[in-house]
Amino acid sequence: MQFSDILLKWFHQHGRKDLPWQHPVSPYRVWISEIMLQQTQVITVIPYFQRFIARFPDVTALANARLDDVLHLWTGLGYYARARNLHRAAQIILQEYSGHLPDSAVDLISLPGIGRSTAGAILAISLGKPAAILDGNVKRALTRLHAIAGWPGEKAVEKQLWLLAERHTPATNFADYTQAIMDFGATVCTRSKPHCCSCPFQSECAAYSQGQPTAYPTSKSRGRLPIRQVRLLILKNVHGEILLEKRPPTGIWGGLWSLPECTMTEDIEEFCQRVYACDITHMLQKPNFRHTFSHFHLDITPIQMTATLNPSKIMDSATTVWYNRTETDARGFPAPVKQLLESLLEEPIT
Ligand code: SF4
Repeated sequence: MQFSDILLKWFHQHGRKDLPWQHPVSPYRVWISEIMLQQTQVITVIPYFQRFIARFPDVTALANARLDDVLHLWTGLGYYARARNLHRAAQIILQEYSGHLPDSAVDLISLPGIGRSTAGAILAISLGKPAAILDGNVKRALTRLHAIAGWPGEKAVEKQLWLLAERHTPATNFADYTQAIMDFGATVCTRSKPHCCSCPFQSECAAYSQGQPTAYPTSKSRGRLPIRQVRLLILKNVHGEILLEKRPPTGIWGGLWSLPECTMTEDIEEFCQRVYACDITHMLQKPNFRHTFSHFHLDITPIQMTATLNPSKIMDSATTVWYNRTETDARGFPAPVKQLLESLLEEPIT
């Protein structure tokens, strides 16, 4: 039996068929789910997907939304460039493709945030078109099945994996096969404890026969992550409102609403007076905590302060706002900032 036949047989017995983006299947819904599933597990994605689709049921709704609303629904999922790219891509699809996702890989890949594997998944799953995929789950399974050494992010290794992915893709039944290979990687050939005992490929898996399945895929060799430090200022005015700033559109936490930042060495009182024309009347250092990005740790020291304002300084603007709990308009927050605000306000921010 061919690889795809064995996999499809396994899929019909054990594959996932009740995921929210499978009912109904459409290019838009597969696109949103594929972007959310990058770097994120299914169990985490499901509620985010449901809220997102309820608010933005189609390309037009997403394209016409405020970026703040999109980022608000993304808060906690991380990798916010994904949400910014979705929003931008929806606007392009609305303008250039009358609101319908293009049905060719070349056109899909030209959109922000859509790579070759995501384009393949959209085409195969929603349109039943012939296309291979190579997401993280598939890379892991293929490196083990074929004992492919080398970090899959390296061009030469990735090229080899794409050839294998294409070779294994059958001549028909693309939608089921694509879902099957993703499910197989996510539920059988898992990252740290692959279920080799129940794997339909055990007898032909090269990594298993070597007795070391988890030696594949090869990790990227990198040293310890660098550590950066920052103080986040929880600046309250006499009404109990908290000062928020909108971050620049690109970079870390791009486009999200955050707390003012100050370096570890700056004089905070002088900083607040100079930048915000605030006099500090009370200051309290809260417990430090660490937030880890893919390429560095950020050690955060929150400083809570009460400020009296210079009335000549108008601070509400497109990028600065005094935030209070009764506000109803949605904003996207970085996870650690949301966590801090919730701890201050006691009740969750919705
Ligand atoms: Fe993965 Fe184990 Fe199956 Fe090999 S035998 S493909 S390592 S689950």
